[in-house]
Amino acid sequence: MSELRVRFAPSPTGYLHVGGARTALFNWLYARHFGGTFILRIEDTDTERSTQQSVDAILQGMEWLGLDCDEGPFYQTDNFPLYKQHVQKLLDEGKAYRCWCKPEELEAKREAAMAEGRKPKYDGTCRHRQNQPLDQPHVIRFKAPEEGETAFDDLIKGRIAFPNAELDDLIISRTDGTPTYNFCVVIDDALMRISHVIRGDDHVNNTPRQIQLYEALGYPVPIFAHVPMILGSDKARLSKRHGATSVIAYRDMGYLPEALNNYLVRLGWSNGDDEIFSREEMVQKFDIANVGRSPSVFNPEKLNWLNAHYIKTGDPARLAELLKPHLASRGVTDTATPDLAGVISTLQERAQTLEEMADRALFYYQAPQSYDEAALAKFEKPHLAAVFSAVAAKLAATTASTAAECDALFKEICTEGGWKMPQVGQPVRIALSGSTQAPGIGEIVMALGVPETVARIERATAALA
Ligand code: GLU
Repeated sequence: MSELRVRFAPSPTGYLHVGGARTALFNWLYARHFGGTFILRIEDTDTERSTQQSVDAILQGMEWLGLDCDEGPFYQTDNFPLYKQHVQKLLDEGKAYRCWCKPEELEAKREAAMAEGRKPKYDGTCRHRQNQPLDQPHVIRFKAPEEGETAFDDLIKGRIAFPNAELDDLIISRTDGTPTYNFCVVIDDALMRISHVIRGDDHVNNTPRQIQLYEALGYPVPIFAHVPMILGSDKARLSKRHGATSVIAYRDMGYLPEALNNYLVRLGWSNGDDEIFSREEMVQKFDIANVGRSPSVFNPEKLNWLNAHYIKTGDPARLAELLKPHLASRGVTDTATPDLAGVISTLQERAQTLEEMADRALFYYQAPQSYDEAALAKFEKPHLAAVFSAVAAKLAATTASTAAECDALFKEICTEGGWKMPQVGQPVRIALSGSTQAPGIGEIVMALGVPETVARIERATAALA
Protein backbone atom coordinates (compact mmCIF):
# COMPACT_ATOMS: atom_id res chain seq x y z
CA MET A 1 0.00 0.00 0.00
CA SER A 2 1.25 3.46 -0.74
CA GLU A 3 1.47 5.81 2.22
CA LEU A 4 -1.61 5.62 4.44
CA ARG A 5 -3.09 9.04 5.10
CA VAL A 6 -6.45 9.60 6.75
CA ARG A 7 -8.24 12.65 7.97
CA PHE A 8 -10.97 13.80 10.32
CA ALA A 9 -12.84 16.67 8.71
CA PRO A 10 -15.37 18.19 11.10
CA SER A 11 -17.53 21.18 10.23
CA PRO A 12 -17.23 23.63 13.11
CA THR A 13 -20.93 24.26 13.51
CA GLY A 14 -21.27 22.83 17.03
CA TYR A 15 -19.38 20.88 19.64
CA LEU A 16 -17.61 17.57 19.04
CA HIS A 17 -20.41 15.03 19.40
CA VAL A 18 -20.01 11.33 20.04
CA GLY A 19 -20.61 10.45 16.37
CA GLY A 20 -17.86 12.79 15.24
CA ALA A 21 -15.59 11.57 18.00
CA ARG A 22 -16.06 7.98 16.87
CA THR A 23 -15.18 8.96 13.29
CA ALA A 24 -12.10 10.75 14.60
CA LEU A 25 -11.17 7.73 16.73
CA PHE A 26 -11.55 5.26 13.86
CA ASN A 27 -9.36 7.42 11.64
CA TRP A 28 -6.80 7.92 14.38
CA LEU A 29 -6.69 4.18 15.17
CA TYR A 30 -6.39 3.27 11.51
CA ALA A 31 -3.46 5.63 11.13
CA ARG A 32 -1.78 4.46 14.33
CA HIS A 33 -2.32 0.78 13.54
CA PHE A 34 -0.72 1.02 10.12
CA GLY A 35 1.85 3.67 10.99
CA GLY A 36 0.05 6.17 8.76
CA THR A 37 -0.66 9.87 9.08
CA PHE A 38 -3.71 11.37 10.79
CA ILE A 39 -4.73 14.80 9.55
CA LEU A 40 -7.21 17.24 11.03
CA ARG A 41 -9.05 19.48 8.63
CA ILE A 42 -11.62 22.00 9.76
CA GLU A 43 -14.33 22.34 7.10
CA ASP A 44 -15.31 25.92 7.74
CA THR A 45 -16.43 27.04 4.28
CA ASP A 46 -19.96 27.61 5.55
CA THR A 47 -18.98 30.93 7.08
CA GLU A 48 -22.48 31.60 8.42
CA ARG A 49 -22.65 28.49 10.54
CA SER A 50 -18.97 28.02 11.41
CA THR A 51 -17.71 29.58 14.63
CA GLN A 52 -14.37 29.85 16.39
CA GLN A 53 -16.12 28.60 19.50
CA SER A 54 -16.97 25.36 17.71
CA VAL A 55 -13.41 25.02 16.43
CA ASP A 56 -12.16 25.38 19.99
CA ALA A 57 -14.72 22.89 21.28
CA ILE A 58 -13.68 20.33 18.66
CA LEU A 59 -9.97 20.78 19.40
CA GLN A 60 -10.66 20.54 23.12
CA GLY A 61 -12.70 17.35 22.68
CA MET A 62 -9.99 15.72 20.59
CA GLU A 63 -7.29 16.70 23.01
CA TRP A 64 -9.25 15.30 25.90
CA LEU A 65 -9.70 12.00 24.04
CA GLY A 66 -6.00 11.99 23.19
CA LEU A 67 -6.59 11.94 19.43
CA ASP A 68 -3.49 13.83 18.40
CA CYS A 69 -3.06 14.71 14.76
CA ASP A 70 0.16 14.50 12.77
CA GLU A 71 -0.75 17.32 10.39
CA GLY A 72 -3.10 20.25 10.82
CA PRO A 73 -5.43 21.58 11.87
CA PHE A 74 -5.91 22.93 8.36
CA TYR A 75 -8.74 25.32 7.63
CA GLN A 76 -10.63 25.21 4.35
CA THR A 77 -11.16 28.96 4.41
CA ASP A 78 -7.39 29.27 3.90
CA ASN A 79 -7.68 27.34 0.65
CA PHE A 80 -10.14 29.45 -1.35
CA PRO A 81 -7.57 30.44 -4.00
CA LEU A 82 -6.77 26.77 -4.53
CA TYR A 83 -10.42 25.84 -5.01
CA LYS A 84 -10.86 28.70 -7.47
CA GLN A 85 -7.88 27.53 -9.51
CA HIS A 86 -9.45 24.11 -9.75
CA VAL A 87 -12.83 25.52 -10.79
CA GLN A 88 -11.01 27.45 -13.52
CA LYS A 89 -9.17 24.35 -14.64
CA LEU A 90 -12.44 22.46 -15.10
CA LEU A 91 -13.92 25.41 -17.00
CA ASP A 92 -10.85 25.65 -19.22
CA GLU A 93 -11.03 21.97 -20.01
CA GLY A 94 -14.74 22.11 -20.80
CA LYS A 95 -15.53 19.92 -17.79
CA ALA A 96 -17.57 22.61 -16.09
CA TYR A 97 -19.88 25.30 -17.38
CA ARG A 98 -21.52 28.51 -16.30
CA CYS A 99 -25.20 28.38 -15.48
CA TRP A 100 -27.53 31.36 -15.48
CA CYS A 101 -30.70 29.52 -14.55
CA LYS A 102 -32.54 31.45 -11.86
CA PRO A 103 -33.48 29.78 -8.57
CA GLU A 104 -37.20 30.37 -9.32
CA GLU A 105 -36.88 28.64 -12.70
CA LEU A 106 -35.06 25.72 -11.14
CA GLU A 107 -37.65 25.44 -8.42
CA ALA A 108 -40.49 25.40 -10.97
CA LYS A 109 -38.72 22.68 -12.96
CA ARG A 110 -38.13 20.72 -9.80
CA GLU A 111 -41.79 20.85 -8.87
CA ALA A 112 -42.85 19.85 -12.37
CA ALA A 113 -40.50 16.84 -12.24
CA MET A 114 -41.85 15.79 -8.86
CA ALA A 115 -45.44 16.17 -10.09
CA GLU A 116 -44.66 13.87 -13.02
CA GLY A 117 -43.01 11.38 -10.73
CA ARG A 118 -39.53 12.04 -12.21
CA LYS A 119 -36.44 12.46 -10.05
CA PRO A 120 -35.77 16.19 -9.76
CA LYS A 121 -32.50 16.87 -11.50
CA TYR A 122 -30.97 19.85 -13.27
CA ASP A 123 -32.03 19.57 -16.90
CA GLY A 124 -28.78 20.87 -18.38
CA THR A 125 -30.27 24.01 -19.97
CA CYS A 126 -26.97 25.90 -19.72
CA ARG A 127 -24.72 23.02 -20.75
CA HIS A 128 -24.61 24.10 -24.35
CA ARG A 129 -25.61 27.71 -24.01
CA GLN A 130 -24.17 29.93 -26.73
CA ASN A 131 -24.50 33.46 -25.36
CA GLN A 132 -22.50 33.87 -22.16
CA PRO A 133 -23.42 37.09 -20.36
CA LEU A 134 -20.43 36.94 -18.03
CA ASP A 135 -21.44 40.11 -16.20
CA GLN A 136 -24.71 38.49 -15.13
CA PRO A 137 -24.92 36.47 -11.89
CA HIS A 138 -24.28 32.80 -12.48
CA VAL A 139 -23.05 29.65 -10.84
CA ILE A 140 -20.57 27.11 -12.18
CA ARG A 141 -21.67 23.53 -12.62
CA PHE A 142 -19.69 20.37 -13.10
CA LYS A 143 -20.46 18.60 -16.36
CA ALA A 144 -21.23 15.19 -14.93
CA PRO A 145 -21.17 12.08 -17.08
CA GLU A 146 -24.68 11.30 -18.29
CA GLU A 147 -24.35 7.61 -18.97
CA GLY A 148 -22.95 4.61 -17.19
CA GLU A 149 -22.55 4.39 -13.45
CA THR A 150 -20.23 5.57 -10.73
CA ALA A 151 -19.30 2.82 -8.34
CA PHE A 152 -16.88 2.19 -5.51
CA ASP A 153 -15.91 -0.67 -3.22
CA ASP A 154 -16.62 0.56 0.24
CA LEU A 155 -14.42 -1.10 2.85
CA ILE A 156 -17.41 -1.50 5.16
CA LYS A 157 -20.47 -1.66 2.92
CA GLY A 158 -19.06 -3.45 -0.10
CA ARG A 159 -19.75 -2.32 -3.66
CA ILE A 160 -22.03 0.68 -4.07
CA ALA A 161 -23.08 1.87 -7.55
CA PHE A 162 -25.05 4.90 -8.64
CA PRO A 163 -26.46 5.30 -12.17
CA ASN A 164 -24.96 8.50 -13.55
CA ALA A 165 -28.34 9.42 -15.00
CA GLU A 166 -29.44 10.08 -11.43
CA LEU A 167 -26.61 12.43 -10.57
CA ASP A 168 -26.98 16.16 -11.11
CA ASP A 169 -24.59 18.57 -12.69
CA LEU A 170 -23.29 19.65 -9.33
CA ILE A 171 -22.83 23.34 -8.57
CA ILE A 172 -19.16 23.70 -7.74
CA SER A 173 -19.03 27.48 -7.40
CA ARG A 174 -21.84 29.71 -6.15
CA THR A 175 -23.02 33.05 -7.56
CA ASP A 176 -20.68 34.86 -5.16
CA GLY A 177 -17.75 32.77 -6.37
CA THR A 178 -17.44 30.64 -3.25
CA PRO A 179 -16.80 26.93 -3.87
CA THR A 180 -19.30 24.37 -2.63
CA TYR A 181 -18.82 21.68 -0.04
CA ASN A 182 -18.36 18.57 -2.19
CA PHE A 183 -15.87 20.36 -4.38
CA CYS A 184 -13.68 21.59 -1.52
CA VAL A 185 -13.62 18.12 0.06
CA VAL A 186 -12.30 16.61 -3.16
CA ILE A 187 -9.61 19.22 -3.72
CA ASP A 188 -8.40 18.93 -0.13
CA ASP A 189 -8.49 15.16 -0.01
CA ALA A 190 -6.60 15.05 -3.31
CA LEU A 191 -3.96 17.61 -2.38
CA MET A 192 -3.53 16.21 1.11
CA ARG A 193 -3.01 12.83 -0.59
CA ILE A 194 -5.67 11.17 1.55
CA SER A 195 -5.56 7.45 0.86
CA HIS A 196 -8.63 6.40 2.87
CA VAL A 197 -11.75 8.43 3.57
CA ILE A 198 -13.35 7.05 6.72
CA ARG A 199 -16.54 8.94 7.57
CA GLY A 200 -20.17 8.56 8.61
CA ASP A 201 -22.48 6.86 6.16
CA ASP A 202 -24.59 10.01 5.94
CA HIS A 203 -21.98 10.93 3.29
CA VAL A 204 -22.54 7.91 1.03
CA ASN A 205 -24.61 9.96 -1.39
CA ASN A 206 -21.84 12.53 -1.75
CA THR A 207 -19.30 9.91 -2.71
CA PRO A 208 -20.23 9.30 -6.39
CA ARG A 209 -20.25 13.05 -7.02
CA GLN A 210 -16.86 13.34 -5.40
CA ILE A 211 -15.50 10.39 -7.38
CA GLN A 212 -16.59 12.04 -10.63
CA LEU A 213 -14.74 15.18 -9.59
CA TYR A 214 -11.53 13.28 -8.78
CA GLU A 215 -11.72 11.63 -12.16
CA ALA A 216 -12.39 14.86 -14.02
CA LEU A 217 -9.44 16.50 -12.26
CA GLY A 218 -7.18 13.55 -12.87
CA TYR A 219 -6.56 12.82 -9.21
CA PRO A 220 -6.43 9.30 -7.78
CA VAL A 221 -9.66 8.29 -6.06
CA PRO A 222 -9.18 7.37 -2.39
CA ILE A 223 -10.60 4.25 -0.78
CA PHE A 224 -13.85 4.88 1.06
CA ALA A 225 -15.15 3.42 4.31
CA HIS A 226 -18.56 4.64 5.43
CA VAL A 227 -19.28 3.91 9.06
CA PRO A 228 -22.92 3.18 9.99
CA MET A 229 -24.66 5.72 12.19
CA ILE A 230 -25.06 5.66 15.94
CA LEU A 231 -28.68 5.33 17.05
CA GLY A 232 -30.46 6.13 20.30
CA SER A 233 -32.32 3.44 22.27
CA ASP A 234 -35.47 4.14 20.19
CA LYS A 235 -33.47 3.33 17.05
CA ALA A 236 -33.65 6.91 15.80
CA ARG A 237 -30.39 8.63 14.90
CA LEU A 238 -28.61 9.72 18.08
CA SER A 239 -29.43 13.31 18.90
CA LYS A 240 -29.75 15.66 21.85
CA ARG A 241 -33.17 14.14 22.52
CA HIS A 242 -31.36 11.05 23.78
CA GLY A 243 -29.34 13.00 26.35
CA ALA A 244 -25.83 14.36 26.21
CA THR A 245 -24.06 13.95 22.89
CA SER A 246 -21.13 16.31 23.40
CA VAL A 247 -17.81 14.76 24.27
CA ILE A 248 -17.01 17.56 26.69
CA ALA A 249 -20.36 17.05 28.42
CA TYR A 250 -19.23 13.48 29.10
CA ARG A 251 -16.01 14.81 30.57
CA ASP A 252 -18.01 17.15 32.79
CA MET A 253 -20.31 14.33 33.88
CA GLY A 254 -17.24 12.50 35.15
CA TYR A 255 -16.36 10.04 32.41
CA LEU A 256 -12.75 9.13 31.78
CA PRO A 257 -11.38 9.61 28.27
CA GLU A 258 -10.22 5.99 28.17
CA ALA A 259 -13.74 4.82 29.04
CA LEU A 260 -15.31 6.95 26.31
CA ASN A 261 -12.72 5.84 23.75
CA ASN A 262 -13.25 2.22 24.72
CA TYR A 263 -16.99 2.71 24.49
CA LEU A 264 -16.80 4.47 21.13
CA VAL A 265 -14.50 1.92 19.55
CA ARG A 266 -17.06 -0.79 20.24
CA LEU A 267 -19.80 1.21 18.56
CA GLY A 268 -19.41 -0.54 15.25
CA TRP A 269 -16.08 -2.30 15.65
CA SER A 270 -15.53 -5.66 17.32
CA ASN A 271 -12.75 -8.05 18.11
CA GLY A 272 -14.42 -11.33 19.05
CA ASP A 273 -16.35 -10.88 22.28
CA ASP A 274 -13.79 -8.61 23.89
CA GLU A 275 -15.15 -5.48 25.54
CA ILE A 276 -12.20 -3.91 27.29
CA PHE A 277 -9.41 -2.41 25.25
CA SER A 278 -6.56 -0.31 26.50
CA ARG A 279 -5.37 2.35 24.11
CA GLU A 280 -2.46 0.14 23.03
CA GLU A 281 -4.75 -2.84 22.45
CA MET A 282 -7.08 -0.73 20.35
CA VAL A 283 -4.21 0.44 18.20
CA GLN A 284 -2.88 -3.07 17.90
CA LYS A 285 -6.21 -4.70 17.00
CA PHE A 286 -8.19 -2.07 15.13
CA ASP A 287 -8.97 -2.63 11.50
CA ILE A 288 -11.75 -1.30 9.30
CA ALA A 289 -12.32 -4.90 8.17
CA ASN A 290 -13.95 -5.57 11.55
CA VAL A 291 -16.37 -2.66 11.45
CA GLY A 292 -19.92 -3.96 11.11
CA ARG A 293 -22.48 -2.98 8.49
CA SER A 294 -25.37 -2.25 10.78
CA PRO A 295 -25.89 0.83 12.92
CA SER A 296 -24.99 0.65 16.60
CA VAL A 297 -27.19 1.66 19.48
CA PHE A 298 -25.83 4.00 22.12
CA ASN A 299 -26.13 2.30 25.48
CA PRO A 300 -25.42 4.57 28.47
CA GLU A 301 -25.36 1.65 30.91
CA LYS A 302 -22.51 0.04 29.07
CA LEU A 303 -20.60 3.31 29.11
CA ASN A 304 -21.19 3.48 32.88
CA TRP A 305 -19.92 -0.05 33.26
CA LEU A 306 -16.74 0.74 31.35
CA ASN A 307 -16.26 3.96 33.24
CA ALA A 308 -16.58 2.10 36.55
CA HIS A 309 -14.00 -0.37 35.28
CA TYR A 310 -11.49 2.35 34.39
CA ILE A 311 -12.10 4.14 37.68
CA LYS A 312 -11.60 0.92 39.62
CA THR A 313 -8.38 0.04 37.82
CA GLY A 314 -7.03 3.57 37.37
CA ASP A 315 -3.88 4.94 38.95
CA PRO A 316 -5.03 7.08 41.91
CA ALA A 317 -2.50 9.82 41.18
CA ARG A 318 -3.79 10.19 37.63
CA LEU A 319 -7.42 10.00 38.72
CA ALA A 320 -6.60 12.75 41.22
CA GLU A 321 -5.78 15.15 38.39
CA LEU A 322 -9.03 14.29 36.64
CA LEU A 323 -11.06 14.56 39.85
CA LYS A 324 -9.78 17.98 40.90
CA PRO A 325 -12.11 20.04 38.67
CA HIS A 326 -15.09 18.08 40.00
CA LEU A 327 -14.02 18.85 43.56
CA ALA A 328 -13.32 22.49 42.69
CA SER A 329 -16.89 22.87 41.46
CA ARG A 330 -17.94 21.70 44.91
CA GLY A 331 -15.77 24.29 46.61
CA VAL A 332 -12.79 22.04 47.41
CA THR A 333 -9.60 23.41 45.96
CA ASP A 334 -7.03 22.37 48.53
CA THR A 335 -6.66 18.64 48.07
CA ALA A 336 -3.28 18.23 49.77
CA THR A 337 -4.71 17.28 53.16
CA PRO A 338 -5.86 14.65 53.13
CA ASP A 339 -3.88 13.55 50.14
CA LEU A 340 -6.26 13.15 47.22
CA ALA A 341 -4.71 10.00 45.79
CA GLY A 342 -5.17 8.34 49.19
CA VAL A 343 -8.77 9.49 49.33
CA ILE A 344 -9.40 8.16 45.84
CA SER A 345 -8.05 4.74 46.65
CA THR A 346 -10.88 4.41 49.20
CA LEU A 347 -13.54 5.32 46.62
CA GLN A 348 -12.47 3.58 43.41
CA GLU A 349 -14.39 0.38 44.07
CA ARG A 350 -17.78 2.01 44.18
CA ALA A 351 -17.89 5.04 41.87
CA GLN A 352 -19.32 4.91 38.37
CA THR A 353 -18.33 8.46 37.50
CA LEU A 354 -15.97 11.12 38.80
CA GLU A 355 -19.00 13.21 39.70
CA GLU A 356 -20.17 10.42 41.99
CA MET A 357 -16.65 10.07 43.33
CA ALA A 358 -16.41 13.79 44.02
CA ASP A 359 -19.67 13.66 46.00
CA ARG A 360 -18.32 10.79 48.05
CA ALA A 361 -14.92 12.43 48.52
CA LEU A 362 -16.38 15.62 49.94
CA PHE A 363 -16.55 14.47 53.54
CA TYR A 364 -12.78 14.02 53.62
CA TYR A 365 -12.34 17.74 53.00
CA GLN A 366 -15.43 19.03 54.74
CA ALA A 367 -16.03 17.58 58.21
CA PRO A 368 -19.70 16.67 58.60
CA GLN A 369 -21.97 19.55 59.56
CA SER A 370 -24.81 17.19 60.39
CA TYR A 371 -25.23 13.51 61.09
CA ASP A 372 -27.62 10.92 59.70
CA GLU A 373 -30.34 11.08 62.37
CA ALA A 374 -32.29 8.09 61.10
CA ALA A 375 -29.25 5.82 61.24
CA LEU A 376 -28.29 7.14 64.67
CA ALA A 377 -31.75 6.49 66.10
CA LYS A 378 -30.80 2.82 66.46
CA PHE A 379 -28.21 3.66 69.11
CA GLU A 380 -28.62 4.87 72.68
CA LYS A 381 -26.51 7.87 73.72
CA PRO A 382 -24.53 5.95 76.35
CA HIS A 383 -23.61 3.38 73.70
CA LEU A 384 -22.37 6.11 71.38
CA ALA A 385 -20.40 7.69 74.20
CA ALA A 386 -18.78 4.36 75.08
CA VAL A 387 -17.90 3.53 71.47
CA PHE A 388 -16.50 6.97 70.68
CA SER A 389 -14.42 7.03 73.79
CA ALA A 390 -13.01 3.53 73.15
CA VAL A 391 -12.16 4.49 69.58
CA ALA A 392 -10.51 7.76 70.57
CA ALA A 393 -8.42 5.99 73.20
CA LYS A 394 -7.35 3.22 70.86
CA LEU A 395 -6.44 5.58 68.05
CA ALA A 396 -4.50 7.90 70.33
CA ALA A 397 -2.18 5.01 71.12
CA THR A 398 -1.95 3.40 67.70
CA THR A 399 0.92 3.07 65.31
CA ALA A 400 -1.23 1.41 62.62
CA SER A 401 -0.08 2.41 59.20
CA THR A 402 -2.30 0.37 56.90
CA ALA A 403 -6.05 0.05 56.51
CA ALA A 404 -5.81 -3.63 57.46
CA GLU A 405 -3.96 -2.83 60.69
CA CYS A 406 -6.55 -0.22 61.43
CA ASP A 407 -9.41 -2.64 60.80
CA ALA A 408 -7.74 -5.00 63.26
CA LEU A 409 -7.86 -2.23 65.88
CA PHE A 410 -11.59 -1.93 65.40
CA LYS A 411 -11.95 -5.67 65.86
CA GLU A 412 -10.12 -5.31 69.17
CA ILE A 413 -12.45 -2.50 70.17
CA CYS A 414 -15.44 -4.76 69.44
CA THR A 415 -14.03 -7.63 71.43
CA GLU A 416 -13.07 -5.45 74.37
CA GLY A 417 -16.45 -3.71 74.48
CA GLY A 418 -18.50 -6.83 73.77
CA TRP A 419 -19.94 -5.22 70.61
CA LYS A 420 -20.70 -6.54 67.15
CA MET A 421 -18.94 -4.78 64.26
CA PRO A 422 -21.97 -2.78 63.04
CA GLN A 423 -22.51 -1.43 66.57
CA VAL A 424 -19.12 0.24 66.30
CA GLY A 425 -18.73 0.67 62.58
CA GLN A 426 -21.96 2.52 61.92
CA PRO A 427 -21.61 5.20 64.60
CA VAL A 428 -17.96 5.73 63.68
CA ARG A 429 -18.76 6.08 59.98
CA ILE A 430 -21.44 8.61 60.86
CA ALA A 431 -19.06 10.50 63.12
CA LEU A 432 -16.42 10.68 60.41
CA SER A 433 -18.52 11.20 57.29
CA GLY A 434 -22.00 12.18 58.46
CA SER A 435 -23.56 9.06 56.94
CA THR A 436 -23.27 5.29 56.86
CA GLN A 437 -22.57 5.31 53.11
CA ALA A 438 -18.84 5.51 53.40
CA PRO A 439 -15.83 3.32 52.60
CA GLY A 440 -14.38 0.81 55.07
CA ILE A 441 -13.41 2.29 58.41
CA GLY A 442 -9.75 1.36 58.20
CA GLU A 443 -9.56 3.00 54.78
CA ILE A 444 -11.21 6.18 56.00
CA VAL A 445 -8.91 6.45 59.00
CA MET A 446 -5.81 5.95 56.86
CA ALA A 447 -6.93 8.53 54.30
CA LEU A 448 -8.08 11.08 56.87
CA GLY A 449 -5.12 10.56 59.16
CA VAL A 450 -5.36 9.66 62.83
CA PRO A 451 -5.38 13.24 64.25
CA GLU A 452 -8.29 14.36 62.04
CA THR A 453 -10.14 11.11 62.78
CA VAL A 454 -9.79 11.68 66.50
CA ALA A 455 -10.89 15.31 66.15
CA ARG A 456 -14.02 14.20 64.30
CA ILE A 457 -14.78 11.51 66.90
CA GLU A 458 -14.48 14.16 69.62
CA ARG A 459 -16.78 16.53 67.76
CA ALA A 460 -19.33 13.77 67.29
CA THR A 461 -19.08 12.91 70.99
CA ALA A 462 -19.91 16.50 71.89
CA ALA A 463 -22.78 16.65 69.41
CA LEU A 464 -24.33 13.22 69.82
CA ALA A 465 -23.34 11.41 72.96
N1 GLU B 1 -17.37 18.02 7.17
C1 GLU B 1 -18.13 16.82 7.07
C2 GLU B 1 -18.93 16.62 8.33
O1 GLU B 1 -18.64 17.21 9.34
C3 GLU B 1 -17.28 15.59 6.86
C4 GLU B 1 -16.81 15.48 5.48
C5 GLU B 1 -16.05 14.22 5.19
O2 GLU B 1 -15.63 13.51 6.11
O3 GLU B 1 -15.85 13.97 4.01
O4 GLU B 1 -19.89 15.87 8.31
